[in-house]
Amino acid sequence: MIPKDHPRYRSLVARERLARCAREGIVAMEGLAAHGRGEAFDYLIGEKTTKSAALAARTAAAILLSARHAVISVNGNTAALAADEIAALQRASGADVEVNLFHRTEERMALITRLLTEHGVRVLSGTPERLVPLSHDRALCLPEGIGDADVVLVPLEDGDRCAALRAMGKTVITIDLNPLSRTARTATLTVVDEVTRAIPAITAACSSLGPGEGERLVASLDNTYLLRAAIDEMRERLAHALE
Ligand code: ATP
Repeated sequence: MIPKDHPRYRSLVARERLARCAREGIVAMEGLAAHGRGEAFDYLIGEKTTKSAALAARTAAAILLSARHAVISVNGNTAALAADEIAALQRASGADVEVNLFHRTEERMALITRLLTEHGVRVLSGTPERLVPLSHDRALCLPEGIGDADVVLVPLEDGDRCAALRAMGKTVITIDLNPLSRTARTATLTVVDEVTRAIPAITAACSSLGPGEGERLVASLDNTYLLRAAIDEMRERLAHALE
């Protein structure tokens, strides 16, 4: 039992959940290392949603709501950490949800689908095809899901796949605590925030965008500006870290 008054309560709960999901085969061992990289960057932003991340989340909501066909691509870490949050975002945005894994096995696909379904997510099913221009099983996606989507939200993505989805002409929104990652720099829009804060922020924005706000946010989207702002926020915190 993790005591609720522990200063790192949220982080310890997340680790405990990821470790349990790794033992159950939902999270890949490599996913645990990826989470550690994310945690380090979360420290640098003070483990809270920054101003630039809040703006990025509102912009993400505007893009999802104006999409012809939006799909949320879910991997093991995202399912383990944020299944309830994905269910809420699906309800708010009307997006489809597809399970898409870097370390893909039929068993993991089934485990993750079951976890998401238990939390109220409607998960797309079908026969995957090699549509993403990548080698091996990373090319697989559903023709009626990611294959058809004009907008894909890919939390905690890897750089190659993000670039391949862009090369397919898709608008790619990512959630990545590391503003320097290839994913963050390749995506159309990056929300530099922890996934369990970022998804609820996007969900909340789906029902609170003012008239014309969505169009304005999409028209003024500048991902390089958002990444610079995230780095500036980290630099500012570091400059005053020991005061
Ligand atoms: P790239 O290939 O894009 O350069 P990478 O090699 O770091 O990045 P991965 O190892 O797949 O990619 O890691 C996924 C990314 O997700 C990391 O950049 C990490 O910062 C981020 N990340 C991990 N956990 C979280 C989380 N809980 N919330 C938000 N971002 C996270």
